[in-house]
Amino acid sequence: MQITDVRSEVFEWERAGIWNGGHFYGPGRLHKVTVETDEGIVGYGWNGGTAAERPLTVFPPFVSYFRELLIGRDPMDTSGISEDLGEKHIKILGPAGVNTQVLAAINIACWDIKGKALETSVHKLLGGAQQRVRTYIAGGYYAEGKGLQELQDEVRFNVEEMHAGAVKIKIGDPNEGVIGDMRRVEAVRDAIGDDVVLMVDANCALDLQTSLTFVQELEKYGVYWFEEPLPIHRYRDHGTLKRASNVKIATGENGYHFAHFETLLDHDGADILNVDVTICPGYDVAKNIADFALGRDISIAPHGCQELQLPFTAAIPHGEFLEYYPVAVDPLRAEMFLPRLVPDSDGYVTVPDRSGIGFELNMDLLDRYRVK
Ligand SMILES: [Mg+2]
Repeated sequence: MQITDVRSEVFEWERAGIWNGGHFYGPGRLHKVTVETDEGIVGYGWNGGTAAERPLTVFPPFVSYFRELLIGRDPMDTSGISEDLGEKHIKILGPAGVNTQVLAAINIACWDIKGKALETSVHKLLGGAQQRVRTYIAGGYYAEGKGLQELQDEVRFNVEEMHAGAVKIKIGDPNEGVIGDMRRVEAVRDAIGDDVVLMVDANCALDLQTSLTFVQELEKYGVYWFEEPLPIHRYRDHGTLKRASNVKIATGENGYHFAHFETLLDHDGADILNVDVTICPGYDVAKNIADFALGRDISIAPHGCQELQLPFTAAIPHGEFLEYYPVAVDPLRAEMFLPRLVPDSDGYVTVPDRSGIGFELNMDLLDRYRVK
């Protein structure tokens, strides 16, 4: 089989602004990559479908660049393509960034083709270790007019209506400080009770000293993990923080390369890796990272678009949690992917038994928001 074309499409829609400790997110956005083959099998990958949307103008030029290198190649050689256009292309495009995010979408599209050609799911091809995985519902962002009451309403909805056994909120907005954020943590714990797992996420906004102050407080409220407390390259600080409390340190959603995770674990810097298959780039590298983590007894709880992370999370025995973006983060996304992925009554999700990734983009909906 040979690749005959690679195409890029971009979509954007209005959404109420939300922010975390490090970033403000305005409109929702999606970048779609289509890979076509001489056998008529078509694969799809994408960037987006999370809160953290990148400017759309940056993606298509990389698709155009990679297209010339992909035509004629075998799409089944997913790891070879990622290696040649990623690792072996560092001198030309740099180690990582938008180039490797686009490469991730291409890798995912090629895995989609591989699954469709072999008439099996990417989940099974990657190992198929679990049929169902536990989810946690992401959210707890900051927003205009959102106080403690609204935050409590949000997490209560996640637990009572979405069957969440675990929820996550943001901390790290400098306007809140440790005192303001700990009021939020306390309010959420009050709202969800002691039996629901609670995680917090600072999106790299803190320094070591503030993180050490936070982690002592978070422990009092039974917080399960403290996600991205520090800038990602502060490897040594991650180790210092991890040793300072029983709260687990989770990070990795911005990990762009196997070596990043290797260095992080060599510094004993994390308990849980939030590998994202649209950042790292793609299923092959993510699986290599997961295999490495298994040897260190470290679990995986992927970050990002749940429809793309599920085949990977459920494929590995140590896929601990799947992050789930609810309507509160983006009202449109619930309709954007088919079939619709919703948590079961016990807070787990079930992997769909379909060839390829198992999910498709709802183009009837997305076409209304096409930019080009
Ligand atoms: Mg995060």
